[in-house]
Amino acid sequence: MSDTTTDTTGDDLEPVEEFRARARTWLAANMPPLGDGWNDRSDERRERERDLQRTLWSGGFAGICFPREYGGLGLTNEHQRAFTAESAPYDMPFSLNVPTLGILAATLLEFGTHEQKLRHLPAILRGDELWVQFLSEPSGGSDLAGCLTRADRDGDVFVLNGSKIWSSAAYASDWAMCLARTNWDVPKHRGLTMFILEIHQPGVTVEQIRQVDGTLEFCQEFFDDVHVPADAVVGEVDDGWTVASKLLVHERLAVGGGSPYTSGASIGHDGGGADTMIADLARGSGRAHDAHARQLVAEAHVRQMVAGQLIRRITQGMATGAMPAPAGSLIKLFGATNVMRRSEIALELAGGAVVAWPPGEPGPGALAGTASLSRQGVSLGGGSNEIQRNIISERLLGMPREYAADREVPYREVRRGGSSR
Ligand SMILES: Cc1cc2nc3c(=O)[nH]c(=O)nc-3n(C[C@H](O)[C@H](O)[C@H](O)COP(=O)(O)OP(=O)(O)OC[C@H]3O[C@@H](n4cnc5c(N)ncnc54)[C@H](O)[C@@H]3O)c2cc1C
Repeated sequence: MSDTTTDTTGDDLEPVEEFRARARTWLAANMPPLGDGWNDRSDERRERERDLQRTLWSGGFAGICFPREYGGLGLTNEHQRAFTAESAPYDMPFSLNVPTLGILAATLLEFGTHEQKLRHLPAILRGDELWVQFLSEPSGGSDLAGCLTRADRDGDVFVLNGSKIWSSAAYASDWAMCLARTNWDVPKHRGLTMFILEIHQPGVTVEQIRQVDGTLEFCQEFFDDVHVPADAVVGEVDDGWTVASKLLVHERLAVGGGSPYTSGASIGHDGGGADTMIADLARGSGRAHDAHARQLVAEAHVRQMVAGQLIRRITQGMATGAMPAPAGSLIKLFGATNVMRRSEIALELAGGAVVAWPPGEPGPGALAGTASLSRQGVSLGGGSNEIQRNIISERLLGMPREYAADREVPYREVRRGGSSR
């Protein structure tokens, strides 16, 4: 870490406004301006983001809210927010935020052993390790506790067999947190264990899945007798549900734009360049003076402002204990419905420009059209909208729990597709 890092131990925290001024000067001197292609999901872009993360690290601005003993700066949410605001005009390692920093590093920080954290957190903050979640399975993702991938203890290792799916960019990632069943004789939530898994090793096959927008980011993995060291367990054996549940809290915050562990404006949540894009679409289609188009532009802007305030209110509420962890579902649900509505607005404003453009000149309309193909993803990834609504009604509003026939039944006896294991 560079000499520019301020000593922030004990009460001697650098004042936020001094930190902000120092960040502003450093960003201007070291980070490239935000240009087109920040949301490109190509391999080249991913490598560029690793380099951007390395730049943050060597400049002493990586991991603002991570503890100093694991390579971070040990500063507060306020420092992070100040840095994020200052970084808005610059290109940043956006895709490292989710899932690596905001979800997996956050979960490791909470449940990992000291050795696991020392080994991985500085490497993550240096941009050397990209992480992914191996949670969803071909048999279904919403019922996460219905996991069928198994890990059987054999001396110093667990032997992993099964399959995971919908893992974002697993082929280009280095490590995963993988949920597997270690006990079939207890009800489904009580027999799971979370593992740290090296992705590129014998027995792990990663296949990329082509999406409707032409991308190959999603993967399916197959595990054939993969040996996982026993010291790669995160939390306790058979208590993986505790880890997974908290991982999902981090995910809802990170996907909703409210994680303290992510850095850089999250476009689509707090404004960034997105509102300019919506206004550009209205101008591009010659409708900047049209009353209905102007209402749509204003609606998109108001939604962004509400999103920013909601994120701030709920993250502060959760940080102070005034709101319980499931409140993160409010941010996640609002974020997902907001992205969907903004996509509809963009399509309406752009008109024909979303489907046809001059050869070699894809404008904002083309971007909006392509983005609309994957807009449904935000209402599934990190738990679907229906699941968020279940959480809000059951765990925030105290409504009765959804009926589950398998809740107290040993998982071995639960019928799945007409068979039991
Ligand atoms: C962009 C994106 C990124 C993702 N990244 C990852 C990743 O990195 N790692 C990973 O493991 N997974 C990832 N996923 C998978 C994601 O977690 C699952 O898609 C999600 O949990 C839903 O699971 P499913 O697709 O199997 O749908 P299912 O669980 O089969 O659900 C199908 C439909 O039924 C509804 N439904 C299911 N159960 C209920 C219920 N109890 N009450 C009401 N409605 C219900 C759902 O809302 C949904 O509409 C990603 C998905 C997306 C879209």
